[in-house]
Amino acid sequence: MILPPATLGMLGGGQLGRFFVSAAHEMGYKVWVLDPDPHSPAGLIADRHLVAGYDDFAALDKLSAGCSAVTTEFENVPAATLDYLAKFMPVHPSAAAVAVCQNRIAEKTFLADHGLPHGPFAAIRSDADVRDADAALFPAVLKVARFGYDGKGQARVANRDEALHAFHRFGGEVCVLEKMLALDCEVSVVLARDEGGAVRCFDPSENRHRHGILDVTIAPAPFDGSLVDQARSAAARIAEKLGYVGTLGVEFFVCDGELFVNEMAPRPHNSGHHTIDACVTSQYEQQVRALCGLPLGEPRAHSAAVMVNLLGELWYEGARADGAYREPDWATLHAVPNLRLHLYAKHHARPGRKMGHFTVIGRDAAQVLDAALGARAAIGISDDGH
Ligand code: ADP
Ligand code: MG
Repeated sequence: MILPPATLGMLGGGQLGRFFVSAAHEMGYKVWVLDPDPHSPAGLIADRHLVAGYDDFAALDKLSAGCSAVTTEFENVPAATLDYLAKFMPVHPSAAAVAVCQNRIAEKTFLADHGLPHGPFAAIRSDADVRDADAALFPAVLKVARFGYDGKGQARVANRDEALHAFHRFGGEVCVLEKMLALDCEVSVVLARDEGGAVRCFDPSENRHRHGILDVTIAPAPFDGSLVDQARSAAARIAEKLGYVGTLGVEFFVCDGELFVNEMAPRPHNSGHHTIDACVTSQYEQQVRALCGLPLGEPRAHSAAVMVNLLGELWYEGARADGAYREPDWATLHAVPNLRLHLYAKHHARPGRKMGHFTVIGRDAAQVLDAALGARAAIGISDDGH
């Protein structure tokens, strides 16, 4: 067991890393963050911020000299970086597990190999692959296999011509072509798994997206038990088959009452933010616990919760890119009972950028949803794309 006041290493300085730093600090640990951005949200509150690239081996040597174990909040850390650090200290999740999650083709192949349900897709490496793709895949979504997030590196394509055009627009990068599914809704499971293989799942949540970006999370997901049980057991099986240690997010599509795995995130997940305010143990504390070899905490929710993401457009008058830049109306949010606001201290808001979130908690799920959507509307987030 790695115990306080040990120093932990975090690869990546975004908001997920920032919440990890907070959880680790609460528990008495120190944290060093490695991230190339001198203003990174986690770097700002870390005990030390190594401002360096993930492939800067001199910086990795510094990190391993100063830390007892390393984890990540950023799925695009090169697997070689994790492998290198693992020579010197525990690294969780492993390079092998992260490698599966950071490439959409490896991810879908993994799902297929383990009999886990996923939507129809084709790997696209050349124009010929687009021409040969099954006609039943259209209309489809073309996604770059690596480095996409928040709907970036994705194009909705009605037919083969549009798919070819989008493939060229992505510079011929390796892609997957996924059948566009008619979604009843989206669900995610966040879980933690320890080195001994024990798994603790948070309650599955329902996730509502806008423009490919998570907008609202409702926890627990208001569905019938069997779907929720299937989601939990599929997520646990994924963690087991990956030999995963740490906090893992698994996204699902629900189509015609059937569950399909969309993708996995080898880190805490945006749809698990509410666990800070609504659960006995947060997803970030679980990440600390799994990394340090502590027993996993109790994931039970003590409250129903709704989380609302705050994206950069909210900083622009009228949510228009040419609108005046100003702070959103925080006072209105702070006046809402049982609402907690979390801001990530990013130095500049850009449309689509995740700047913060708030969570409303309470006993009655319907009231919590009303209050959260009411607060969301009151600060000027509308349903038609701001
Ligand atoms: P990201 O890495 O950006 O989260 P996702 O693959 O999860 O990428 O896509 C983002 C969102 O776009 C999904 O949550 C879903 O709302 C929508 N989407 C993605 N793929 C499909 C699909 N095959 N069918 C229908 N909707 C999709
Ligand atoms: Mg996603």
